[in-house]
Amino acid sequence: KQRDPHQTEFHQAVEEVLRSLWPFLQDNPHYAKAGILERLVEPERAIQFRVPWVDDQGVVQVNRGFRVQMNSAIGPYKGGLRFHPSVNLSVLKFLAFEQVFKNSLTSLPMGGGKGGADFNPKGKSDGEVMRFCQSFMSELYRHIGANLDVPAGDIGVGGREIGYLFGQYKRLANEFASVLTGKGLAYGGSLIRPEATGYGCVYFAEEMLKRKQLGFEGKKVCISGSGNVSQYAAQKVMELGGRVISLSDSQGTLVIEAGLDQEQWHYLMDLKNRRRGRIREMAEHFALPFLEGQTPWHLPCDIALPCATQNELSSEDARTLLKNGCICVAEGANMPATLEAVEVFIEAGTLYAPGKAANAGGVATSGLEMSQNAMRLHWSGGEVDEKLHNIMQNIHQACVRYGEENGRINYVKGANIAGFVKVADAMLEQGVV
Ligand code: NDP
Repeated sequence: KQRDPHQTEFHQAVEEVLRSLWPFLQDNPHYAKAGILERLVEPERAIQFRVPWVDDQGVVQVNRGFRVQMNSAIGPYKGGLRFHPSVNLSVLKFLAFEQVFKNSLTSLPMGGGKGGADFNPKGKSDGEVMRFCQSFMSELYRHIGANLDVPAGDIGVGGREIGYLFGQYKRLANEFASVLTGKGLAYGGSLIRPEATGYGCVYFAEEMLKRKQLGFEGKKVCISGSGNVSQYAAQKVMELGGRVISLSDSQGTLVIEAGLDQEQWHYLMDLKNRRRGRIREMAEHFALPFLEGQTPWHLPCDIALPCATQNELSSEDARTLLKNGCICVAEGANMPATLEAVEVFIEAGTLYAPGKAANAGGVATSGLEMSQNAMRLHWSGGEVDEKLHNIMQNIHQACVRYGEENGRINYVKGANIAGFVKVADAMLEQGVV
């Protein structure tokens, strides 16, 4: 905290991990002796660079680009790129730190990294987004590689942006390498990658519920956000017989008391991915209530899936959810619940899954995309989905193995210890580097 006093998001993420790791570290002092913690919180490398581009009016714009290469003990750096005005080094270090544990949990050989820019893609033309992506990659390309660092999408970076980034990489490096995941199907992408984070989050919640002889059938489910993760979490909940009663964006919450139906889901996909519109338009189109400036957490529900962004669910929201009967919370987003909100859930014994476990399906499927690229073959959607499902079940089991506490499962503790052990052991074996 003394070294980087303003990096509040990063401190929050580290504190959450350390709180639950502490007793484990005391029982296993060899990790402390080797300075594992001190090394884990310091990125192996953090790159910051200028991203100049020309907008449609011919005016030169300058954004700030980053790549944080956090830890490569168990494989090449892997983690998304985020384009959002709120991006800064603190946010990316928190995301990269989380990514190290998450990637370890998937059991695939991937280290942790994260990157992005304070660029806002909202309201920009395709041409502007392309020029920005090309400029961003003109610097990033020298720091990534199929065996070095393989970025993917995140907030503000979807299929369109990955395409532009990949095109520019190929041109500069003069080779067709697997340096990005989330690619289009025509040029090396994997089936089920767009669905993976949302589906994976619901698979994880399903496992938690199963241990209590419960399921999604007939349950009211609150989802926040309306982007990639929310869209496919909603689809999987519907498939399992749950009722999706909300979606949101940074302007407010759409309430669908009767539960989202197929027609509405297809409208959502077109609205957000092709027309790039706002969720408010969906409320207007279907004459549904729209709660201006509000999050969904005060709506009575059985299951909550926060799928928008960090710190979108406060301790007060957590208490309201519990008061209204919510029994299960699985994070599709990264760190959507504040530290205090997490404490409320854990104290109440709620089935609460942190993002590093519940949203690991996205990066796991990115890992499967890398495998397919390396083998130069293409698995069917069914095959990828089955592998994703197995990975989520295995992550759940790992959390149960390490998370037992007073007859309950503390999924935060389980995910942190399970993710830590593999990375820490690899670091021990590799010496002080
Ligand atoms: P998208 O850009 O597709 O969607 C983001 C959604 O969150 C939008 O509805 C957006 O609304 C909302 N949102 C973003 N910032 C804010 C904010 N400050 N306040 C309120 N709402 C906000 O991103 P994804 O769906 O890909 O990512 C969502 C979350 O999931 C992020 O935390 C991301 O790190 C995490 N994640 C994503 C993975 C993936 O595979 N995509 C993998 C693992 C985690 P608006 O349009 O108004 O900004």
